[in-house]
Amino acid sequence: MLAIRSARLFDGVADQLCARPLVLVDQGRISGVDLTGAGPPEGAELVDLGEATLLPGLIDSHTHLVLDASSDPVGHLADVDDDALLADCRAAAQAALAAGITTVRDLGDRRFVTLRLREELAAYPTQGPQLLVSGPPITTPGGHCWFLGGEAAGIEGVREAVRALAARGVDGLAVTGHAHGAQGIAEAVAAGFDGIEHGLSLTAEGVRQDPAVVDQLAARGVVVSVTGAQNQPLGQPPPGMEPGSDLARRFEALAKQMEQFVAAVLRLRAAGVPLTMSSDAGIGPHKPHDVLPWGPGLASMTGFTTAEALRMVTSVAADACRVGDRKGRIAPGYDADLLAVDGDPLADPAAVREVVAVFRAGQRVR
Ligand SMILES: [Zn+2]
Repeated sequence: MLAIRSARLFDGVADQLCARPLVLVDQGRISGVDLTGAGPPEGAELVDLGEATLLPGLIDSHTHLVLDASSDPVGHLADVDDDALLADCRAAAQAALAAGITTVRDLGDRRFVTLRLREELAAYPTQGPQLLVSGPPITTPGGHCWFLGGEAAGIEGVREAVRALAARGVDGLAVTGHAHGAQGIAEAVAAGFDGIEHGLSLTAEGVRQDPAVVDQLAARGVVVSVTGAQNQPLGQPPPGMEPGSDLARRFEALAKQMEQFVAAVLRLRAAGVPLTMSSDAGIGPHKPHDVLPWGPGLASMTGFTTAEALRMVTSVAADACRVGDRKGRIAPGYDADLLAVDGDPLADPAAVREVVAVFRAGQRVR
């Protein structure tokens, strides 16, 4: 048994931190959280993290391990075979875990490479986060992310694609839709999707959010995964992005509408739509696979409370990924996926980037 002592604890849910917690870990799970100030139980190994704050390991609900976070990730992908790609994914997963990201939902695979990695990491949990994988995303012929191999046409084609993914053993059959556009969001909600990725409500005339769609998202508890984490101030291009490149053009178009996006997200929040902060890691130099810890700081700058911002990458993200009974909280019975940081992340969410220790399934990896 392990007994982890720290100065403070964010349990993944509460608006306040607990002082002087002692978190007990047994066989990879949290067996108790003692707030009485008592010493460790007999026989337990004490890990004293001093002035650190303990949080649940972070959960990134939207990443792409197969994209390399270069300025041309799609071009790079076309050049690598599956074994080389698996090695890249392995490195990306390791980087994520080192930053305290202990669960990753991968939403865009090529030829099921992430399933191979998922099996590896299940056997060697200290080598990466727990992976929840979608396989290649289903898309219309020539549609968003078609190059990942998930094209399907017509109702029967989509049914067949879903069956094929299920047969390969992808995680869960919840459906989340990559939807930037207002029309796509409206159709996904009408079709009963469980989640929406990006959720920007773009139209040809700019951001146009339909209040009726917002109400439906809220009423049905459809989670919107705001892929906002990036290692740059909002709207600023990352260094190394080649001017005139496809990515740069898209980035500039989005940057111009940043204020409207933020307003749209705040309207979702006001309506009670569950929101996660995720990354879309891999799609460019501003989104490496360890970028999620930037997310809470950005969220709090745009009007979320710091506790809300932290829930968006812990308990709410866990619920969105349907692992809310095991992940995203520090409580008895939960997986001992933990992040310890220097400072008080409720006072300053940038503190989540000051990593002191990371535990994955009860084993210290950093
Ligand atoms: Zn994506």
